[in-house]
Amino acid sequence: MSFSTILGQDKTIKRLRALIESARIPPAMIFYGAPGTGKFLTAVEFAKAINCSHTEHREKRTAPQLPDEEDLFAAAAPAPEPEPEQEPLKVHTDPSDSCGACLSCLQAASGAHPDIRIVDTAFQAALLGEAESSNLKIDTMRELSRWAQQKPMMSAWKIFIVRDAEALVPQAQNALLKTLEEPPPGTLVILTVSKKTSLLSTILSRSCVVDFGRLPAEALQTLLEAQGTEPTQAAALAALGAGSLEKAAEAGTFLKRVSALRPGDQARIFKFTAGLPRDSHKARDEVKTLLDLLLLKTRKAWSAAPAPSKNKFTSLLRRTLALKRMAERNVSYQLLLETALLESDRAGIRIEDLVKPD
Ligand SMILES: [Zn+2]
Repeated sequence: MSFSTILGQDKTIKRLRALIESARIPPAMIFYGAPGTGKFLTAVEFAKAINCSHTEHREKRTAPQLPDEEDLFAAAAPAPEPEPEQEPLKVHTDPSDSCGACLSCLQAASGAHPDIRIVDTAFQAALLGEAESSNLKIDTMRELSRWAQQKPMMSAWKIFIVRDAEALVPQAQNALLKTLEEPPPGTLVILTVSKKTSLLSTILSRSCVVDFGRLPAEALQTLLEAQGTEPTQAAALAALGAGSLEKAAEAGTFLKRVSALRPGDQARIFKFTAGLPRDSHKARDEVKTLLDLLLLKTRKAWSAAPAPSKNKFTSLLRRTLALKRMAERNVSYQLLLETALLESDRAGIRIEDLVKPD
């Protein structure tokens, strides 16, 4: 594993590699982008590359030293005979990426690096001896601050990756802020986040924000195939995934649920919506994804329709957009989705069409 395993984020990776090469790594970073765009994997690879103990990396990253007096005199002396050229050893020489073979890289890859900690709700549950919660709590951030004060055990950097940092409650963010304000030397905190608005402005202003764009469909398809999805289905899901591996996976579950419906069954829309997740946040996300798919298909139908038939698609677009705005409020997501699917069905856009690639 190295940066080469991250697909579709070339510009971002280039920026991160430049930071490593210039040895100007900020103490606090925010990896920001839609879910399923590779923020967390990149954070792990970045941490691995920073702490890789390959000598080439170390030499490159040490700050240039001023020559001492003796060296200044030595500089005036005739240059020594150049050493005979040796066949270069075939070793890892990329100073901005991990070697993948040193002890540090191997420990990071197995999740057992003593100086790289992944902080998420599962880690918190183990740390506090509690059931997994959807929030990251103040006690967890206090522990992080305490660890940050300790010296790294084996590497140059002590790195904390706070995964899905939108889960940090405000008090926990305030506790973290103290570490970001006065970071102990050699400490790096990376927050991965898909909603910047969930972070306090004081956290945002102290962090270097790195943006992750949507993944190109080809990258999504390759990733899906690498996960074992059959190529034709991977292509279909990549087209529906809107640049996010997570959305593509969601589309996969729609695909399964839709293919289980009997065509022509009058009740198939109700059967489909009854399968929405019970968790209201998940249900809302799923309904919003489906409404986006409906809008996409309606726009396509509108542009393909002859002028006299465009009106019905124009009004369907308006109604679906209004339903999407309602999905931001506390409503019955199942009822909302039923309304949208029934109205589309009447205009000739069937639920089965939503998961068909164009
Ligand atoms: Zn290494």
